[in-house]
Amino acid sequence: MAGFGNSDDYMKGEIIFIAGEGRSGSTLFDIVLGAQENAFSCGELQNFTKKGLVNEEFCSCGQRVPQCSFWSEVSARWSRERTLSLEEYNLAWLRYFGSYKRVFGLLKNAILPSKQFSDLVNDTEKLYDAIFALRGNDLYLIDSSKLPLRILLLKKMKYKVRVMHTVRQLHGVILSRSKSFNKNPKKGIEHDIHPVKPVKTMISWSLSNMLTILFSIGLNRNKVRYEELIESPYLIIEKQFPHLDSQYKKVLQSRGPFRPLHVVAGNRLRMQETIYVEQNGSSNQNAAQSAFIVKVLNSIFY
Ligand SMILES: [Zn+2]
Repeated sequence: MAGFGNSDDYMKGEIIFIAGEGRSGSTLFDIVLGAQENAFSCGELQNFTKKGLVNEEFCSCGQRVPQCSFWSEVSARWSRERTLSLEEYNLAWLRYFGSYKRVFGLLKNAILPSKQFSDLVNDTEKLYDAIFALRGNDLYLIDSSKLPLRILLLKKMKYKVRVMHTVRQLHGVILSRSKSFNKNPKKGIEHDIHPVKPVKTMISWSLSNMLTILFSIGLNRNKVRYEELIESPYLIIEKQFPHLDSQYKKVLQSRGPFRPLHVVAGNRLRMQETIYVEQNGSSNQNAAQSAFIVKVLNSIFY
């Protein structure tokens, strides 16, 4: 395993950032990509500190994050290296990334960073350093935090970043958000999930997609359509990673099984032991019935 300072092995690493709106297959895509020999699925890394370390939510290995063999090690390494305390880090995170309303303050700091913002950037980079170092020879870290604002932070780091912009047809997201789920932490549902009004989903879907496009300027951004991903994961991934090993190809072609190791936060899907990419034909049927505004927004962002 590579350690801090003794080689620049982990500098070769690339961060694959899955961006876009929720319910667009980001956790599934993370797990599928992470099944490559030289890759690691982090899950929603932006929730590692608050949900994982503070709230002690579950890792996909079945342990609570502070007890997980992998993330406890990451946390120990990271706490030796970072400048901010965990509490300060979470406060700084909330201040700049807590909501889309913070975007102007964030942009200002992206150009003229305050001390707090610089510390936040450096400490986040050190978190990636710790993960890369512990994973040894991994080339790709997959972070499915989704939040487009995080791209501004990734741009400030030494790592190569590739943005995977996942987009699902708007009516599919509206439908998925209209369902409710009861809290079930062991199954990865940390709180009750209430239905979201279609108009609210429309706004956040448009905003997420627009900001992902905008903030990815200057980076390698690849659009991944959810419907195409579940239709043929092999075709989609082969386009992005031309040198797939034969074992992984086989798993992709048979649509699984994928086994998430230590996916730290994200959709409840990650708590399943094995995952298959299942086809789902409902989206196309809904397309014809969707409202004019939904069709217009789909034609812009999808
Ligand atoms: Zn774990």
